[in-house]
Amino acid sequence: MKPARTKTPRKPLVKKGSQTNLKDPVGVYCRVRPLSFRDQECCIEVINNTTVQLHTPEGYRLNRNGDYKETQYSFKQVFGTHTTQKELFDVVANPLADDLIHGKNGLLFTYGVTGSGKTYTMTGSPGEGGLLPRCLHMIFNSIGSFQAKRYVFKSNDRNSMDIQCEVDALLERQKREAVTNPKTPGSKRQVDPEFADMINVQEFCKAEEVDEDSVYGVFVSYIEIYNNYIYDLLEEVPFDPIKPKPPQSKLLREDKNHNMYVAGCTEVEVKSTEEAFEVFWRGQKKRRIANTHLNRESSRSHSVFNIKLVQAPLDADGDNVLQEKEQIIISQLSLVDLAGSERTNRTKAEGNRLREAGNINQSLMTLRTCMEVLRENQMYGTNKMVPYRDSKLTHLFKNYFDGEGKVRMIVCVNPKAEDYEESLQVMRFAEVTQEVEVARPIDKAICGLTPGRRYRNHARGGPVGDEPLTTEVVLQSFPPLPSCEILDINDEQTLPRLIEALEKRHHLRQMMIDEFNKQAITFKALLQEFENAVLNKENYIQGKLNEKEKLISGQKLEIERLEKKNKTLEYKIEILEKTTTIYEEDKRNLQQELETQNQKLQRQFSDKRRLEARLQGMVTETTMKWEKECERRVAAKQLEMQNKLWVKDEKLKQLKAIVTEPKTEKPERPSRERDREKVTQRSVSPLPVPLSTNYIAQISNGQQLMSQPQIHRRSNSCSSISVASCISEWEQKIPPYNTPLNVTSIARRRQQEPGQSKTCVVSDRRRGMYWTEGREVVPTFRNEIEIEEDRCCRGDVFKTRGGGQSVQFTDIETLKQESPSGRKRRSSTVAAAQPDGTECEWTDVETRCSVAVEMKAGSQLGPGYQHHAQPKRKKP
Ligand code: ADP
Ligand code: MG
Repeated sequence: MKPARTKTPRKPLVKKGSQTNLKDPVGVYCRVRPLSFRDQECCIEVINNTTVQLHTPEGYRLNRNGDYKETQYSFKQVFGTHTTQKELFDVVANPLADDLIHGKNGLLFTYGVTGSGKTYTMTGSPGEGGLLPRCLHMIFNSIGSFQAKRYVFKSNDRNSMDIQCEVDALLERQKREAVTNPKTPGSKRQVDPEFADMINVQEFCKAEEVDEDSVYGVFVSYIEIYNNYIYDLLEEVPFDPIKPKPPQSKLLREDKNHNMYVAGCTEVEVKSTEEAFEVFWRGQKKRRIANTHLNRESSRSHSVFNIKLVQAPLDADGDNVLQEKEQIIISQLSLVDLAGSERTNRTKAEGNRLREAGNINQSLMTLRTCMEVLRENQMYGTNKMVPYRDSKLTHLFKNYFDGEGKVRMIVCVNPKAEDYEESLQVMRFAEVTQEVEVARPIDKAICGLTPGRRYRNHARGGPVGDEPLTTEVVLQSFPPLPSCEILDINDEQTLPRLIEALEKRHHLRQMMIDEFNKQAITFKALLQEFENAVLNKENYIQGKLNEKEKLISGQKLEIERLEKKNKTLEYKIEILEKTTTIYEEDKRNLQQELETQNQKLQRQFSDKRRLEARLQGMVTETTMKWEKECERRVAAKQLEMQNKLWVKDEKLKQLKAIVTEPKTEKPERPSRERDREKVTQRSVSPLPVPLSTNYIAQISNGQQLMSQPQIHRRSNSCSSISVASCISEWEQKIPPYNTPLNVTSIARRRQQEPGQSKTCVVSDRRRGMYWTEGREVVPTFRNEIEIEEDRCCRGDVFKTRGGGQSVQFTDIETLKQESPSGRKRRSSTVAAAQPDGTECEWTDVETRCSVAVEMKAGSQLGPGYQHHAQPKRKKP
């Protein structure tokens, strides 16, 4: 049956903006220890250097489909059973130690079930030094000659360091050495054979780019966390074998930089790997004793070994350490050997030990929970509270996850089948942990002093470190001198051998001098060459720099010019915008005004239309009124004229009768009724309007009219001319018909004699008035009736000329009656006052009458009344 293989599902990490550049995931490595016995069943297989595969051992539950459940787990790197401590160190711990030397923090812990190789990995075994001694080695190899004198740095209770001058440090050293027992660890002491093999690291390892202008101090502390209590393993407490006092647990505190530390924890300054490891070993011993005395399971406690590196810059002379506390840089590397991650029932513990074990497990559970929450927060951007405070372990290392530092975990696994389930749990935890990101430690600020101070001081003959002198080195390279001891007087070999050896040495020295001189010359030449090259380069660079500077200044000028232009344009744009705003405002105002004017015009137009319509109505009305009025007047005038004519006829008849008949006969006075009938017969005009009483009275007093004819005459007229002569003259001139002349007949005659009418020249001066509208049969009065005073006549005869014919009247009474003012004029021509005050004369009887009527009524000339009469200027 072929086992099914499934790859561990890896969730992609959600990167969060720029923070990704500053964060690193927790580096999780896996170390698989070799099986204790060859025939043991193995359940872990290393696939490659990043992957392991877990096989389900025989006897474990099968999958539903009957296949073995096989899962692969990936790590940053997997170290197989044959991995040496050195290989592991180089990959995992070396970078942390390097960081420490460069002022950065680091945390390294081993995780796994009991017996999986955690302690072996961290501490090592005889001849197989673990990560801890290797780290110490690397640190002291790197800072060895730059270490400060003991007690120059002094740890305090506030998780920081104090600094004092070398003299003070020396005094304190002497004082302490006098007080404390001579067992005080010193670099010159013999190494304890118990761990001598462990720290005997063959491979030389050193950090690169160590700041040589600083002095360094190393402090170590060692604590144990058991049952959620912190114990100081380096604390010096008198041990009472009869009644052993239980160790006092320590409290966690937070310093001003929010770093957690164990308050009152012993920090031992160490000057070498041996000294440091001796301190560690002391702690280990104490731990073992306590476990034995207190009946504790050692595998259930976490041990934390802290290496604190303090560095401070040298002063400007490169001689002494700079006495400035702010310049001190402290970095710490915590090496944690965690308790076994197995479940409590596996240890078969009971009672107190079971409870304690439960607490131990609890702290690991908390560590696991913290990792899970951290991962969730980082992946999904949530802000869940990480339960660091739930256990001392997580609380102590809170800063590594929240703050900055490099965190690495080595998952130790024993591939034996019995550990299968526990190993599964370990793998799962590792999977979660490696998805957690921790802020990358930032480089510490370097003090402003010039680098290379220490070596300049050496050149001046200042204090030299522990380095061997050059002469010693040279001497060591010479062949060893033979024994010079002459025991026998006859010894002839010793001295010649010595001479020979010395000669050899001399010769060697000479050769070396020659070689040195040669090399010096070559080096000088090289130096000269190098100097020339540098000079050339400098010149070239200077030229380039000048060029670039010119270019830059030109570009600066251009930029300035463009900026000015830009400003000007911006100003112009601003002005234009303002102008546009003003114009728009004006436009709006004008449009409003235009609208108002349009409305006004519209109103005026409609008013005008209304007025026109009203005027039109008025004109029509007035025209009709006046037409009627004119018709009425014409009719009245016609009647009046007919009456006049009739009166005149009667008078003429009477006169004729008087003239022709004998005087005895009395003329018969015609009755009015008869006359009227006659008039009706004579005229085709409409019936005359009823005569006014005045007029009737006149007619009835015809006699009276007749009797006073002279009154209307001019005073200076020919009053002496007799009526008879006038009549006879008139009879000669009168046409053959006898019918009284009326206007209608005259008109008719004019129609009958158009030629004559045409030939009749009527001067404008004499033209009367007429109505333009007259389509009826009503006489138009265009037949010009001219009454003219004929001065040639002797009597005052009124001559009426129509159609070229003249009719003369002697009846001055009529005229007198019809005179507008009733005034007698020198001329018989009717005169009327014009509005402008001048007087005009009317020769037309009809017109005169009309005017008279109008004036009597006190009215002006009405509309439609055109007078074409050319007023005669009154003769002076
Ligand atoms: P833990 O600390 O995890 O309980 P230890 O480190 O004490 O386990 O290891 C238990 C035993 O296994 C020790 O005797 C140790 O020498 C041995 N051992 C562990 N890992 C290795 C390894 N990689 N190579 C050889 N021996 C190992
Ligand atoms: Mg162990």
